[in-house]
Amino acid sequence: MKILSNITETGAACRCERAKGGRLGLVPTMGALHEGHLSLVRAAKAQCDTIVVSLFVNPTQFGPTEDLAKYPRSFDRDCELLEREGVDILFAPSTEEMYRKGEGTWVVVEGLSEKLDGRSRPGHFRGVTTVVSKLFHIIEPDVAFFGQKDAAQSAIIRRLARDLNFPVEIVICPIVREPDGLAMSSRNAYLNPDERQRALALHRSLSRVEDEFRAGERNAARLIAAATKVFAPEPQIRLDYFEIVDPDTLDPVERIEHLALAAVAAYVGSTRLIDNLILNPKK
Ligand code: AMP
Repeated sequence: MKILSNITETGAACRCERAKGGRLGLVPTMGALHEGHLSLVRAAKAQCDTIVVSLFVNPTQFGPTEDLAKYPRSFDRDCELLEREGVDILFAPSTEEMYRKGEGTWVVVEGLSEKLDGRSRPGHFRGVTTVVSKLFHIIEPDVAFFGQKDAAQSAIIRRLARDLNFPVEIVICPIVREPDGLAMSSRNAYLNPDERQRALALHRSLSRVEDEFRAGERNAARLIAAATKVFAPEPQIRLDYFEIVDPDTLDPVERIEHLALAAVAAYVGSTRLIDNLILNPKK
């Protein structure tokens, strides 16, 4: 695996790979890799000839009071894992390499970036769409792989690629969970054993919605009420949102007649976790 930190060299290496005629797949990450990330790499391996992973803890997607400084970092272990998966190029730039002094250009997907996580994390999606646009320009992937775990992000990236005519196919991969149902996340490392147990409430709230939905409930307000009840006996958890929305527009739905996204975000202690579930009335 080639490990590169320079933008020009990375662009050249990717062009060289693409000249061979195969498909180039990109998996963007912030490192501290787990099975969720590796599932994206494996999906990329199955569909592409050259695999590029980016590892960059992007400061512009963190708010001023968020966890940028303490975000988990495990570069050597990440390299070993990616090498084992057969990744061809790891692009791991410094902040100075990605953001030159005085840079003032942003990419914003208006209409979506203020919804769900964007409401409680102002500026977050602007950071995401700006850095992903940069990665698309530097690497020029044929296919880029993202996780359903970050459902709002997935909708926003799909819209970004469409609106700015990036010639890239966006593939969204399913959520990978721990055996007890907790969605894998680099931020799970912040949880102490008690919080780790309590964090299961997110998955439980989605399972409750799934059960009621399967039993025929289609009214979003009633499903949300059932989900929020799960958090009532959990004073250590602060629910940020539980919403049922259209998976493309992220607008709330009242009755579930088409595919809908049930999405939850909650603070377990001081750790903000997210999870979600797709509801399909045709299934
Ligand atoms: P991150 O390093 O948290 O920015 O995540 C990098 C990519 O991995 C994003 O596209 C995430 O949606 C995806 N991802 C993170 N956790 C999971 C998971 N548990 N299952 C599937 N994909 C995930």
